[in-house]
Amino acid sequence: MAIALGAIADDFTGATDLANTLVGEGVRVVQVIGVPRPDTDIGDADAVVVALKSRTNPADEAVAQSLAALEWLQARGAGQIIFKYCSTFDSTPKGNIGPVADALSDALGADIAVICPAFPANGRTVYGGTLFVHDLPLAESPMKDHPLTPMRDSNLVRLMEAQSRNTAGVVYSQTVRSGADAIRTRISELAAAGNRYAVVDAVNDADLRVIGAALADHKLVTGGSGIGMGLPANLRETEKLGAAKAPTLPGAQGRELIVAGSCSTATRAQIAIAKDRWPWRKIDVDRIAEGKDEIAAAVTWALDQPKDQPVLIFGSADPDEVAATQAKYGTERAGAMVEDTLSGIAGSLAAKGFSRIVVAGGETSGAVVSALDVDALRIGPEIAPGVPWTEALDARKLALALKSGNFGAESFFEGNSQAPCPIGLRGFVPSEPCDDLRW
Ligand code: ADP
Repeated sequence: MAIALGAIADDFTGATDLANTLVGEGVRVVQVIGVPRPDTDIGDADAVVVALKSRTNPADEAVAQSLAALEWLQARGAGQIIFKYCSTFDSTPKGNIGPVADALSDALGADIAVICPAFPANGRTVYGGTLFVHDLPLAESPMKDHPLTPMRDSNLVRLMEAQSRNTAGVVYSQTVRSGADAIRTRISELAAAGNRYAVVDAVNDADLRVIGAALADHKLVTGGSGIGMGLPANLRETEKLGAAKAPTLPGAQGRELIVAGSCSTATRAQIAIAKDRWPWRKIDVDRIAEGKDEIAAAVTWALDQPKDQPVLIFGSADPDEVAATQAKYGTERAGAMVEDTLSGIAGSLAAKGFSRIVVAGGETSGAVVSALDVDALRIGPEIAPGVPWTEALDARKLALALKSGNFGAESFFEGNSQAPCPIGLRGFVPSEPCDDLRW
């Protein structure tokens, strides 16, 4: 079956974010990890989001990976392509947003593509061609000090032109408020003047929906996850996409595992609550450094715990302890030791009947997914803002919830019997649609 929409995202959690937005619009979405193999199973997906890790690698590698992903998506029938980057336009004057957008645009033969990183729900808005993070222009926000992609300009035209071979113009808010026809006319004027990009103002979700309606004929759309909001309606109008469908929860019935590597305030509060409820174990970084087999020890311990309870295994520690560990072993090595151990534990336990797994931490999630050797994930209902349940599309059908450290309420691991929608393992109801959906 052909897919209606294809997306290429420059990092893993960004891909999940867009997938989650599309699921919120009733689209069946599969997220694939890395450039897919020709035979990667995508089930009955309407849309596929390819999660690359191409934000900060050399531009030519990012371009090559993105073009390979594009070829695969086109082979599956995708008629419209989204290039998804961060809503704070994370990039440098060398790229990779400009070079990747140029290459995709050339390959698709697109006359002009929009640039719209706006994600109003998270405080990212575009006004007058300037990107804001809450009340601050991007270059005055904490992004100015980002270790890899410090953002020292807020004007999206200048940011794009510094890294692209092409020029950009702006579709101002006043035009956006005049509706889809006005937006289309303005974009055509910008294209006729030789621009290959149109930065589009958007300060709220209504703007994003009108912009989406104006982009029905665009082969390439670039932006943050918000830009995904308005596109499915066009595809439904032309019957390339069926009626909106509620996503179902994964059907896994096996044992439950919580793995936490995030040291964020939110995750530490979630761990504190879960520790009072269920068996838990903290991995010991000194023992790992001494060469002791912490993976085997934790696996043996987990298998000995009551089968009807989740087990919690974490490396997470408070800032003082993390600082001391980093001083002792170096930041990178300390992080890698914890990630390797947690992902090794998850990999072993998944092979021993733990088939419902929640992971806390962005890097930790990446390490776990790769240890589990998962190629593709079906995106299920959202269980906390920005966190969907997902299901691995292979014979194991693992249920995975992968959350950034800071996401989720304190009760995230525990679930909440008062909530209409399960938000954690305890409220997990296999294969039942969740009634707290966003449409
Ligand atoms: P977040 O989403 O909160 O940023 P990540 O998983 O991306 O979480 O990053 C947390 C990092 O901290 C990981 O590299 C993890 O291995 C590391 N880490 C976890 N526990 C410890 C610890 N006790 N000491 C040092 N580093 C740790």
